[in-house]
Amino acid sequence: MLQCTAVTQVPYAETLLVLATMEGGPEHPPDVVEQEDFVLCELGDHDESAEHAAHLWTADVPDDRDLWFLWSGTGAHRVHRLDTLRLCPAVLREMATRTVATCAFFDHHPGPHSFSVTDPLGELIADHVHSEVRRLVSEDDASDVPDTDAP
Ligand SMILES: [Zn+2]
Ligand SMILES: [Zn+2]
Repeated sequence: MLQCTAVTQVPYAETLLVLATMEGGPEHPPDVVEQEDFVLCELGDHDESAEHAAHLWTADVPDDRDLWFLWSGTGAHRVHRLDTLRLCPAVLREMATRTVATCAFFDHHPGPHSFSVTDPLGELIADHVHSEVRRLVSEDDASDVPDTDAP
């Protein structure tokens, strides 16, 4: 599933205040958010009934809690909130590669877990890399190297 493409501007003063007053917040909140900061919804593509969500800060507290910016609607009709939410407990274990991926979203988030969401930008970069590799490989093929594997 592709990532949601909603983008919105973070309310600077309000976000600074929350960062400065939250438990486990950053030592220097202006390092985290800037005046003209825009954030991208990180959730998998979803309909209007679910809020968009962007991760702002991982709280430095014993139980995992992150600050999220949640919004719905656009422009003058935007409704938003800043909330500290627990981490989603979902874990993906790949037995074959012995890797463990944890979901990067908050508990009870809408849609699929983060490990099932593809970042469209990441895909574009990966596609570009793959085509570069193909180009380099085909250049190799064109050179006059004798085929030593021939019987
Ligand atoms: Zn969204
Ligand atoms: Zn999840």
